[in-house]
Amino acid sequence: KVRTRFAPSPTGFIHLGNIRSALYPWAFARSQGGTFILRIEDTDLERSTQAAVDVILEGMRWLGLDPDEGPFYQMQRMDRYRAVLAEMREKGLVYPCYMSVAELDALRERQMAAKEKPRYDGTWRPEPGKTLPALPEGVQPVWRFRNPIGGKVVWDDKVKGRIEISNDELDDLVIARPDGTPTYNFCVVVDDIDMGITHVIRGDDHVNNTPRQINIFRALGQEPPVFAHLPTVLNEQGEKMSKRHGAKPVTWYRDAGFLPDAMVNYLARLGWSHGDDEIFGREQFLQWFDLDHLGRSAAQFDDAKLRWVNAQHMKLMPDEALAVLVKDLLAQRGVAADARLPAICGLFKDRCDTTLALADWAQRFHADVQPDPEEVRKHITEGVRPALGMLAKMLETCPWTKDDIAQAIKETLRATGLKMPQLAMPVRVLVMGTAQTPSVDAVLALSQREVVVERLRKG
Ligand code: GLU
Repeated sequence: KVRTRFAPSPTGFIHLGNIRSALYPWAFARSQGGTFILRIEDTDLERSTQAAVDVILEGMRWLGLDPDEGPFYQMQRMDRYRAVLAEMREKGLVYPCYMSVAELDALRERQMAAKEKPRYDGTWRPEPGKTLPALPEGVQPVWRFRNPIGGKVVWDDKVKGRIEISNDELDDLVIARPDGTPTYNFCVVVDDIDMGITHVIRGDDHVNNTPRQINIFRALGQEPPVFAHLPTVLNEQGEKMSKRHGAKPVTWYRDAGFLPDAMVNYLARLGWSHGDDEIFGREQFLQWFDLDHLGRSAAQFDDAKLRWVNAQHMKLMPDEALAVLVKDLLAQRGVAADARLPAICGLFKDRCDTTLALADWAQRFHADVQPDPEEVRKHITEGVRPALGMLAKMLETCPWTKDDIAQAIKETLRATGLKMPQLAMPVRVLVMGTAQTPSVDAVLALSQREVVVERLRKG
């Protein structure tokens, strides 16, 4: 049975690059009938915040990446880590190291000067026949893992292929600090064992931790899980996507009017492919998803592409479903939408790439509009005023259908000798606030008669 997890550290607001590391393990578990687990790695007390946890939980809920188990919090599992550490001490898998910070620094400097890779030299590692240094007084030791000597760690990464690391490159990792608090790599392994994780799918910034973690798995008598290390997501400038470089929190996209299914679609394609297929729904994605088609090179975020994908999903949505979303957005602005909303969404969805933009259009049908002064100056000329009055008079009584409205416009043109744009542009500006709208008869038919007549008169 497949068991995957997403294990974010709540040290910053997760962005799209981070949440992609939730999408794939979620999709893999779902597509295999497995279990998806959420684990919050909150042991960095100085940098972890509740606000960051909230963005993780809200972002996942919004995108529909619901965990089957969790959230588990590492801070609530400290007793478990201490228990495993005690077990490892008993079995001689770890040993106390009394080297001071000053001694470690001196060691590192010597190694750097000799152009060697800095690593712990095993001074306090007990071996048969070896005499350890005299115990310094009043020093609490750290606990180091007895990494195997010689041989190599090998795994077949589902993304990167076979990776081999010689054990001689790995030194004895500190797995508990002097006060007994466990360190990062140790907690991860204990959790992955306890939670029965079969596939670790995570960012490749962790690939250097993997051989160390594999050795700990084996020391604890466990076969390591399958690993898939995802290439980085780059921002539009080609840097690693990060909060420091301006990446927005996931929830920003929710508030900016993106559809969860469009986000899932876009993020799915950011590092995984299914032939040339660009636009697909959630169910289709789950049917297609596999680890074999994860990309091997870094993917680059592209805001224009994301907007395009969102626009495609909006076009595919039934007008009624879009209207439900837009109605909410309008309500947040204190605007109550009426029964015209689905038709308004249908008329305008082709020209919008977010539901927020669609709500902006819909708002013009339900609340006052302030015509753009620039467009007023350009389109509402002396010559057009009589025509506006004439049209207003006809619209006061004609049946309120698109065809009848078109007929009234035609008659006004005939009577005044104006050309279509000369009349249509000012009408759009007066009724919608801008001349950049779909066809004028369609827009008027969805507007309210009294409002239209009044605004034309004002013009
Ligand atoms: N907590 C780690 C991070 O946020 C992920 C650890 C893992 O997936 O093993 O980068």
